[in-house]
Amino acid sequence: MKDKIHPKYQDCVIICACGNTIHTRSTKPNIRVEICSKCHPFFSGKQKLIDSAGRVDKFMKKYSKKGRPESTETEAPAA
Ligand SMILES: [Zn+2]
Repeated sequence: MKDKIHPKYQDCVIICACGNTIHTRSTKPNIRVEICSKCHPFFSGKQKLIDSAGRVDKFMKKYSKKGRPESTETEAPAA
C-alpha cells in the first residue's frame, strides 16, 4: 500500500435511530442511520410506516377534523 493516500480503516459503530448498534469497520468512527435491519419492516415482519418527514401525521390531522367520510350515502343505490 502506498503511504499517506489511504484513509484509516478503523473500528466503526453504526447507530440506528431505533437504538440498535452495529459494530463493524470503516474509514469513519461513527455512522448514524435512520433505519437498520432490526427495525425495517421488511426484516422485522411488522407493518410500520417509515414517516421521517411526518407526512402521515399531517394527513391524519388534516382529515380527522372532518370526521368519517359519508360513504354509505353516496354508494347506496337509490331505491
Ligand atoms: Zn434500526
